[in-house]
This record gives sequence, C-alpha cells and structure tokens, in this order.
Amino acid sequence: MSTVQRTGGRRIRIFDTTLRDGEQTPGVSLTVEKKIEIAKTLDILGVDVIEAGFPIVSDGELESVKAINKLGLKSQICALSRVEKSDIDKLIECDIAYGHLFIATSDLHLQYKLNMTREAAYRAAVEGVEYARAHGIRVEFSAEDATRSERTFLAEVLKAVEAAGAERIDVPDTVGTATPETFSDLIRFIRANVRVPLSTHCHDDYGLAVANSLAGIVAGADQAHVTVNGLGERAGNASLEEFVMAVSRLYNFETGINTKLLYSTSRFVAKESGIFVQPNKAVVGENAFGHESGIHTHGVLNLPATYEPMEPELVGAHRRIQAGKHAGSHGVAAQLQSLGIEASRDEIKRIVQRVKVIGDQGKGVTDVDLDRIAREVIGLERGNPFLKVTDLAVITGIKTVPTASVRLTIGEDQTMTVAETGTGPVDAVIKAIQTVTDRFTKIRLREYKLEAITGGTDAEAEVVVKIEDEDGNITTASSTGTDIVMTSVDALISGFNEVMLRKARSNTQKMKIAPTN
Ligand code: MN
Repeated sequence: MSTVQRTGGRRIRIFDTTLRDGEQTPGVSLTVEKKIEIAKTLDILGVDVIEAGFPIVSDGELESVKAINKLGLKSQICALSRVEKSDIDKLIECDIAYGHLFIATSDLHLQYKLNMTREAAYRAAVEGVEYARAHGIRVEFSAEDATRSERTFLAEVLKAVEAAGAERIDVPDTVGTATPETFSDLIRFIRANVRVPLSTHCHDDYGLAVANSLAGIVAGADQAHVTVNGLGERAGNASLEEFVMAVSRLYNFETGINTKLLYSTSRFVAKESGIFVQPNKAVVGENAFGHESGIHTHGVLNLPATYEPMEPELVGAHRRIQAGKHAGSHGVAAQLQSLGIEASRDEIKRIVQRVKVIGDQGKGVTDVDLDRIAREVIGLERGNPFLKVTDLAVITGIKTVPTASVRLTIGEDQTMTVAETGTGPVDAVIKAIQTVTDRFTKIRLREYKLEAITGGTDAEAEVVVKIEDEDGNITTASSTGTDIVMTSVDALISGFNEVMLRKARSNTQKMKIAPTN
C-alpha cells in the first residue's frame, strides 16, 4: 500500500531563507531580537543553512546578521550580497564565511533593472566571486531570473563563476514561471555544464514552488531554498514544511529536519511575522488534520490512514475532530469522550441534530458549545463554574502602560485580586487571569481570534480562543459582545472552565475504572 516512489536515497540539504526572502514578504519586518529567536528555532528544527539576511539593506539588518553569526549554531550561517564590492564588504564586516552572491542573467533584468550588457554582467559576476573568495568567503552563486535567461549565456556565466571559485550554483525561478518540466530540464542542462552542487530557489506565483523544487531535486539538485510557511516576496517561496514532507515521504530522500517540530516552528514564525497560516495549508494548516464530515471522521477513527496521508504526530500536530453541520455520530461521540462526557446512542443522535442546526446557521461549534448542548440533552448539571470574574478594571491611554486589575472567585469561596500590565488592554487582562489560572493548571493560549461581526464602532465582535492544557488537549471557546475586553475575558474564562471540567471528569472516570476493594 506504499505510494513511495523509490527515486530518493540522497541526502537533501535544507537552505532556509525565512530571515531573508521570507522577511521580504510585504508588510513583514523583524527586529534583531525576533530574528535571533527565529534563527535559534530553525537551528533546533535542523536546517542545514540559515540565510540570516542581506547586510547592505540597513544597519539593523547588518546587526542581526552579525548577531546570528555569533550564536554558534549548528546550522551554517549565510548572508546575501550582490556581486558588488560594497555588498561583499558588508559580508566581511559580519565575518560571514558563506556568502550567497547574485546577479541577474536574464536580458529582461539586465536591460530594465541593471541597465547592463551581458558582457558587463559576466565580468561583474566573476569579479564578485573572486573578491569574495580572496577574502575567504565560500560562495553560493545565484543567477537571478535563471529560468528566463538565455541558456547559452547562462551556461557561460555559471562556468565562469565556477572557475572563479563558486562552490555551489543556485538556480532561482525568481518570478515563479517555471513548471516542473521546464525546471527539471533547466537543472539537467546546468548539471551538464558545471560540476559543483546545485540549489533550487522557487517562487510560488503559480502555486508551483514546491512542485518545481521537487522536480529540481529529482533532476539532480541537492539543496532547496525554502521558507517557513512559504513566506517570501509576492506569493512567497517554496514552503519548508511542504517540501520537507513531500521530499521525504513521497520521494524517499533524506533531510536533517526533525519533522516533529514543523508545526510548532510554523506557529512560532506566524506569530513573530504576523502572517497567519491559512487553515487549509498543507502539513501545518489548522485543518490539515481536522475532520468534520461524518464519513471521514468515521473512517479516521477506525483507521487513520483512510483519510490521513501522514500521521499528525509526525509533524507535531494533533488530529482535530470538529463538530459542525457535516458531523456524524462517530465524531461527536469521540469528541464527547475527549470532553469526559458519557452519552447513550440516542443522546448522541440528539446532540448531533442540535450541532447540525448550529452548523446550518453558518457557525462553528466550539468545545464549550458542544459541552453545553450535551449537558442540556443529557440533563447533566454543570455545577458552578470553577472561575468567575467578579470585578474588572482596565486602564489604557496615551503615555499609560495598559494595566488590568481583576478580582476572581475560585471554586466556592476563594477570591483573588491580581493586576498585570500588557501591550494592550486585552493582553493585560489575559495576563492577569493567567497568573491565577497558572496556580491550578498550566494552560497556553494557542490562538486568539477577534472578528467584527457587524460594521461600525458599536459592532458585535466575536472572540474565539483555543487553549492547550498540560496534556496537549485543545479546548475551543468563543464569546460575542460589543466590548472586546469583556468578550475576550468571557471566552478565555469559559475555555479555562471547560479545561477544569474536563480534568475533573477524567479524574472521576479514572476513579471509576480503579479497582475497588
Ligand atoms: Mn527569492
């Protein structure tokens, strides 16, 4: 039943350019501190090369390249440079041992961007590589816009930079216009002209970046330039997580990536860059291992391979069964079980009907919703909520650090008052509540989504939170209201209470199973 094509066997190097091409994503600009944290995360993930930045761009960029270079990471640290001396001097200033030098080779770029003849570009490429080599920098050379370059000229340049000491040639599909067939053909053509190893650098303008990178690898390249979450100029670069999983699982090549860290790395980069991952993204999307349809859920619960082409654990993700209008009784039963609720067949049927009604109204059904529906159907008492907010004040304004003070009732009779500051009023109040919840169980706010449902400043807003408990269980909760601070508090508190309820139920279940004497 294996679908693996045994074409692989070689070890493929992962050249991560999240911090360089990825940072060139419109709207993304990372501080030195954030770049350092991302570099450490990429190192732990196991990438072979981290392209730390383009030092000539700004002082901050130069500082971050320097700082990352000094971290002593296992990954090799590389930095980008045009073939000009002034650029290469910045690599020298950063003490970079691995330079990624580039110049365009397509007539389009030479005429309309560089205003240069082919001869001048050829000379500049060779001189740049020689200059870098003379300063002890090992060079990976990129012929920018290679896929739109005239082949005879491209081959001349590549042979000349190889002779000048470039140790690797990168083949960029700068505007993403290659197809797997044309890219594969180009790699073979270059392979026949130079001896040094080859890299791929594919952009996703037609959604083919990963497919083209894979075609390049099969054709003989041994390193792929990729970015976490496919960040990058315009439509982005080849996505690291998609490429790594496809090249290893479908093509049987090896990489040095610890795939179990793919999901957490993706989330970390999304948070730091502010560019969220689309839910239906392959491998790391929220729905990549989510099932709602009754038919699929039934299949997956019987044997995951029926509708899961890779194990969620392999990429550090969790299977998620979502209640909604497509839900079936098997999925809802499994969800109820994870919430610690026992229900009869007939009760489950009635719960499913109620879930479908909400789904038909176009709404998502959170765990808290499902719990409430189940309790109503079964006639369970929820009892008093574990945590209740009885008082709340938030101060925010100009020249004021947003501060929240919250009084909470815990259980029957305990009360606590806490104050915290934050980056904004919501952050402050969430932090204050978490200092209290931390005393009972460590929870992490995995996701916080705020959406305006109606227009205007008096708009109804919906807050959806996703909370992870110590055991890795995810609980979803939502709340709607016109006050975003109060609505956020409501969602968080009801999610936390659900976590505590689930814990209490699983403890009683454990007690039930325990032998009695
Ligand atoms: Mn690029």
